[in-house]
Amino acid sequence: MTATAEMLERVLAHAVRQRDGLETRGPGAIDAPRQALARFEGPTPEAGEDPITVIDALVKAAEPGLMGVTGRRFFGWVIGGSDPAGVAADWLAGSWGQNAGNMFCSPAAAAAETIASRWLLDILHLPQQCSIGFVTGATMANFVGLAAGRDVILRRVGWDVEADGLQGAPRVRVFIGEEAHSTVFASLRYLGFGDRQIARVAVDDQGAMDASALERALESGDGPALVLAQAGQINTGAFDPVSRIADICARQKSAWLHVDGAFGLWARACPDRAHLAEGLEKADSWATDGHKWLQAPYDSGFAIVKDADAHARAMSITASYLPADDSARDPGLYAPELSRRARGFAVWTLLKRFGRDGIAEMVSRHCALARRIAERLDGAPGLKVLNDVVLNQIILGFGEDWDAAAHDQAARDVVAEIQRRNDVFVEGSDWRGRRVVRVSVISGGLQAPDADRLVEEVLHAWERVRERGPQAAAAPLPAA
Ligand SMILES: *Cc1c(COP(=O)(O)O)cnc(C)c1O
Repeated sequence: MTATAEMLERVLAHAVRQRDGLETRGPGAIDAPRQALARFEGPTPEAGEDPITVIDALVKAAEPGLMGVTGRRFFGWVIGGSDPAGVAADWLAGSWGQNAGNMFCSPAAAAAETIASRWLLDILHLPQQCSIGFVTGATMANFVGLAAGRDVILRRVGWDVEADGLQGAPRVRVFIGEEAHSTVFASLRYLGFGDRQIARVAVDDQGAMDASALERALESGDGPALVLAQAGQINTGAFDPVSRIADICARQKSAWLHVDGAFGLWARACPDRAHLAEGLEKADSWATDGHKWLQAPYDSGFAIVKDADAHARAMSITASYLPADDSARDPGLYAPELSRRARGFAVWTLLKRFGRDGIAEMVSRHCALARRIAERLDGAPGLKVLNDVVLNQIILGFGEDWDAAAHDQAARDVVAEIQRRNDVFVEGSDWRGRRVVRVSVISGGLQAPDADRLVEEVLHAWERVRERGPQAAAAPLPAA
């Protein structure tokens, strides 16, 4: 066996052992960040070492600090489960060493992206004319969609932003719902729009944008406008009324509607959830993630733009040494980077592995499990489900008759207790000025017994916190 074969086989064994181990191991990391740091610590390497020894050292250092996201008891943040088929394809992408930045640099990588794009648009019911940039995640997908929008709305008022930049350009108005995801502010910042230049539009009790408030805000001024709507609020799963928002934007002289659908866009792939995302096809651009509901390995996001020329104007990099012709799509036109990972291999593989039906089944199952969890928890003494569970996200409040400080601390204590027992994993969040426990059902293989285990863990943790009473809850839970 060659040294390379020996190393790859060893990695295979390590990977399988770790994934299988999650059936019995708790989903939380054993190491805190500081302990993880200590395991990787060491002086700057001087002489090189045998690669297999180094790989073994990596596995030993990393495993205690790994989060069990690929197992079935992980409900933290909004994180997909890295389906094995995607992981396998991604290993090949790494092993093949392809650079997806140019179609002649890797015809196969470009072809996988081109065909996966067509399938994605079909499954998400978006127009086939759209271009897709394969990016690292929704943060960059939002950046790319908004960059295309910035190009178009300024062009309509006679300004070429690619040539003349933003300084001295006509003022661009930016509108966003008050409960938008924190990352969109970063994406806007990269594009030259500071936090204080962004108009926040009122939202309803689920965090969905009030379309009438947007209409009033748009009509109270003029000039080009970027409007950011959201499909799938990070706490509640709520959808902005995108269809109405699109009609309002269409009446403006120069408005661009971008939708952040990092996970929510996948509702369109699921017949029993599609009503939530009706009319989304009327927008100009969309961002969604591969590493959330599609279960792609990190990192994977899609920047989808209806006006492919605008997309290319905003992103393309041309150089004499980058060959191009019109025979096929050049992936380099639609992503901000030049050299990049061949993410299309994993996406193509996962779309074939799940198919339209498999994706619909998964999204439907996750949403049904979220409702099952909410039904079982809501109304337990002192426990309340705080959102309308329309999708896969659930937020829980504890200590309903306690004062604000006590119920905030109760939510923190419930998270701490669940994480200490480490049978399921959840995290907390802030919602409308209070601390909540947030549950996300999005990891591929999750089934009813896993959801029931989560319910039991939440009830058990809350019982322990409640026994101590509101006074005790106002102080942190002692270490168990
Ligand atoms: C996760 C998420 C993002 C950020 O996506 P990344 O893939 O982490 O870059 C943006 N918006 C929403 C609604 C999200 O859920």
